[in-house]
Amino acid sequence: MSDAKVIVSQEPWNKPLPNVDQDNAAFWEGLKRHKFLLWRCRTCGAAYWPKAYCLNHDNAPFAENMAWEEASGRGKLFAFNRHHAAFHPGFKNDIPYTYALIELEEGPLVSSTLVGDKQPKDVYDVGQNVEVVYEDHPAEGFTLPRFRIVD
Ligand SMILES: [Zn+2]
Repeated sequence: MSDAKVIVSQEPWNKPLPNVDQDNAAFWEGLKRHKFLLWRCRTCGAAYWPKAYCLNHDNAPFAENMAWEEASGRGKLFAFNRHHAAFHPGFKNDIPYTYALIELEEGPLVSSTLVGDKQPKDVYDVGQNVEVVYEDHPAEGFTLPRFRIVD
């Protein structure tokens, strides 16, 4: 995606750190390159997040039939919750903020927070189109996937 939306945050990070492990390290590395990766089946094309064996058929040993591939970064607002209380002190300056479940074009559901001026207000806002925004944290060396409502 050449026109990827990027936010560069210089704010000191005082929230829990992303839970990067052996199974999702490639996903987090992709975010740093402003690519939204999904775990895809090379046999049938199904997309997964988080990493999983394909549910549609037998899999090759060690998931050799699966690979991380760049996805669209687009989806629809599946559900959301407007937070007016900080459940961790690090979120105190963010409230109110919108925690959302995004149904990606490729199928998987991911959770994130919404950025931008357009915020959902009620149940009729479910189903709106969203796209990923990469939030770089250069001091900490990670990038978070946020989403924004688009027309
Ligand atoms: Zn498959």
